Amino acid sequence: MTSVAVVGDSLSAYAVVAALAKLGYRCDLLCDPAKSHFYGPSLVLNDVSETLLGKLFPDVNLGVYSQRLTHRWVRWGTQPVQVEQPALAIRSHSLLELLRNSKVMQHTRVIDASQLTAQQISQNYTWTVYTRHKKGAIALPESSQSLVGGQRAIVTAEVQDTPKSAHTCYIESLADGWLFYAPVDRSSAMLQACLPITPANPRRALLECLYQSTTISAFVNDLQKVDCFSSAPHLQWPLCGSGWLMVGEPAIKIDPVSGEGTPFALRSAILAGAVIDAILSDRIPDISALSHYQTRLTHSFISHLRGCIQFYREVFSTNLAWQAEMNQMIDIAKTLSNQLEQQAVNMLNYRLIDFELHIG
Ligand SMILES: Cc1cc2nc3c(=O)[nH]c(=O)nc-3n(C[C@H](O)[C@H](O)[C@H](O)COP(=O)(O)OP(=O)(O)OC[C@H]3O[C@@H](n4cnc5c(N)ncnc54)[C@H](O)[C@@H]3O)c2cc1C
Repeated sequence: MTSVAVVGDSLSAYAVVAALAKLGYRCDLLCDPAKSHFYGPSLVLNDVSETLLGKLFPDVNLGVYSQRLTHRWVRWGTQPVQVEQPALAIRSHSLLELLRNSKVMQHTRVIDASQLTAQQISQNYTWTVYTRHKKGAIALPESSQSLVGGQRAIVTAEVQDTPKSAHTCYIESLADGWLFYAPVDRSSAMLQACLPITPANPRRALLECLYQSTTISAFVNDLQKVDCFSSAPHLQWPLCGSGWLMVGEPAIKIDPVSGEGTPFALRSAILAGAVIDAILSDRIPDISALSHYQTRLTHSFISHLRGCIQFYREVFSTNLAWQAEMNQMIDIAKTLSNQLEQQAVNMLNYRLIDFELHIG
């Protein structure tokens, strides 16, 4: 019997499979084929993401479909600054295709889980890692809470690339939102606008943002493939239980303004693999290892919320819709700090060494 099932078909799912493979485990990947070909947003991967992806998938060459960036140009309320920041811009479906073709994923059994319930999955596997929000797929406890830090959304589009430099991404704050632009290959670029509510007409909302922009608008001609994603940070509590853990977007969503979503997802995947290994190899009692997982990720999420609040305060302190966003982040940071205090075991007594969890 393969003892670990990974539910999902996304970056987080592949990262958990790869992290467990590093520790000698073979997982089954449980997918819903009808939902496998989702086109997510284009991503700018920072150097941490690139390093972690290199460790998890050493045979994958991310350079094939990506655009290397060297600088970030920032106009966040004040005078613009340009900072050095190595990164890779890539479409998420290109990234997933590269990872799917990696050795570790090619050796992983893929099972159609569209008809399986959470109960059936847990009967067949000792551990289940959920990386996909499928209604009813996770047998969440009744006390489970989804803590959401706002309602904001990001409208994305592809545009023809006409920047002065092909190696720079741009972020610009506007009166009631922000715009982001990065080239993704030699001829196209990604454009994103974050607004405090989901717009009824995303294309028009994006055009209105461009109308307010003083810099990014100069690069944009035609909008293609306009899409809309929810982008408020959230955390599902609890993040784990007996025989299961959640990783990736269903567990914790990071505000894309930070550019930390992918590194966070990859770190969580590595930690999830290490926790399962520590329990299966009887090195750490399950209650302590699971508590470490929840405490470590929740602390990081609270720090992320505090960073976002500070960042948004700099430019949106008098904007009512953004004040509501900040207040919701303040509320969930407080709730989570209280939850951590009430946990029976909330000390971080373990640390990751490479892919393994150790005492100390
Ligand atoms: C608009 C946006 C821009 C982002 N930009 C960056 C970035 O530049 N750099 C970075 O490191 N991280 C970024 N992220 C975060 C990054 O996408 C995820 O954290 C990371 O890919 C983890 O992936 P996952 O496998 O857990 O989630 P995935 O399952 O790949 O989900 C990624 C996003 O797509 C949405 N999604 C997934 N499936 C569906 C579906 N069927 N229908 C509708 N929506 C769906 C999710 O809600 C989530 O927002 C961004 C997220 C969003 C929403």
